[in-house]
Amino acid sequence: MKSLHLKSGRDKSLRRRHPWIFSGAVERVDGTPANGETVLVKSAEGQPLAVAAYSPQSQIRGRVWSFEAGTRIEESFFSSTLKKAIQLRNSLPAHSHSNALRLVHAESDGLPGLIVDRYADVLVAQFLSAGAEFWREAILDALAAETGCEAIYERSDAEVRTLEGLPPRAGFARGNREAKRCPILEHGLHFRVDVEGGQKTGFFLDQRENRQRVRALAAGREVLDAFSYTGGFSIAALAGGARKVTAVESSVEALQIAKENLAANALDASKIAFEQADVFAFQRQLRDRGQSFDLVVLDPPKFAPTAAQAKNAARAYKDINLLALKLLRPGGMLATFSCSGGVPAELFQSIVAGAASDAGVDARIIERFGAAADHPVALGFPEGEYLKGLLLIRN
Ligand code: SAH
Repeated sequence: MKSLHLKSGRDKSLRRRHPWIFSGAVERVDGTPANGETVLVKSAEGQPLAVAAYSPQSQIRGRVWSFEAGTRIEESFFSSTLKKAIQLRNSLPAHSHSNALRLVHAESDGLPGLIVDRYADVLVAQFLSAGAEFWREAILDALAAETGCEAIYERSDAEVRTLEGLPPRAGFARGNREAKRCPILEHGLHFRVDVEGGQKTGFFLDQRENRQRVRALAAGREVLDAFSYTGGFSIAALAGGARKVTAVESSVEALQIAKENLAANALDASKIAFEQADVFAFQRQLRDRGQSFDLVVLDPPKFAPTAAQAKNAARAYKDINLLALKLLRPGGMLATFSCSGGVPAELFQSIVAGAASDAGVDARIIERFGAAADHPVALGFPEGEYLKGLLLIRN
């Protein structure tokens, strides 16, 4: 087999089961493997450590398929790894109250660069690494066989593909059907998912249980749902008995679906106002008008995908959190999130603390949020943990 040899002393992270091999750790590569081809990874002493997908153009030169150096990477490897991933989802409580789940969470499910979300009977797959792309056909076959889903839509149109030297690709990889409004059910609530044109794979499944928390907190409250996308938190809040909900979102397409989602659930439409606006400006308008809320949800997009953007991201997080805290009535709550991989939970908390102190608002943390259980985090791969959130109460 073609092989990748590590520099002396650069095998430590691999031995701790971290699945990435950075270019700087590579001494040499034997046999000229193609983009995404499988290589045997060896220590400087020649000890076989893992099998990995080779990615010559990426700073992440290799991504480990298996830490058992004898594992054969072939179609049956993908079938058995997918089977395990699906078994885990079938054992989760979410399986009984939602038909939309993340089936494959990349590195944390042993399949680097592969994301698969299930929306009822439609799968959405993202092949985001050279290795996942190399095995695309085998993975698609295994996905169809293991799930019984005939329709697989590919959303390999994420920015990160370029780092792996791969062009964007989107469209049906298997089957074909209307996929701009896939109906799903989450905790008894109906949503429509635009698998073709929506953000990421169409819906933010990672927030499922946090939407349910907000639902449980919403009774009798006036709610501001900032960065509402297709109305996930807004509809959960209304279902939980919110007195009034204001949903703020910049995307016209997302708001259109939010309105359809509202109509799909038997809820009082007069209690919700949709605002197409920039949250940064809109919060200032609310403040200037002297408006206030009992519950604010802040779920912004990824301001810092990597640590390099953390500084600018910190400014943006501080700004929206400062204004949100000011908009809270005494006793009001703020559910604030960050999905930036480059902003760890501790940093996020200190940004929010800085925002509260600058706002002159006294608040306490009463709960912490993470991603739903169908987004597991491998212990050897802390990068898999990207979503964090705090529930604050204003004194
Ligand atoms: N809470 C949502 C997911 C939010 S994703 C859910 O549970 O489904 C973040 C959203 O913020 C995206 O829909 C994006 O269009 C929107 N967005 C990004 N920048 C914005 C801005 N400055 N003002 C308003 N919305 C913005």
